[in-house]
Amino acid sequence: MAGAKKKKGPRQITGLQCSVCKAFGYVTEYNKNNEILMKQTKNVSTFPLSKYCKVCQKHTDHKQMKKLK
Ligand SMILES: [Zn+2]
Repeated sequence: MAGAKKKKGPRQITGLQCSVCKAFGYVTEYNKNNEILMKQTKNVSTFPLSKYCKVCQKHTDHKQMKKLK
């Protein structure tokens, strides 16, 4: 299997931010490889995600935040 040398797995931890009120909403894990694959095969992106925002009190698009420390 190629590409298994790296220490880091494909899983990335990222924050999700409400695109409406900009509130920080969630921390989520996603599989980077899956996202790349999805983009290449189906031309869809994992983000933005529709998530419930506590501030807006409804489902809104949540964008991926910059890398967490
Ligand atoms: Zn919001």
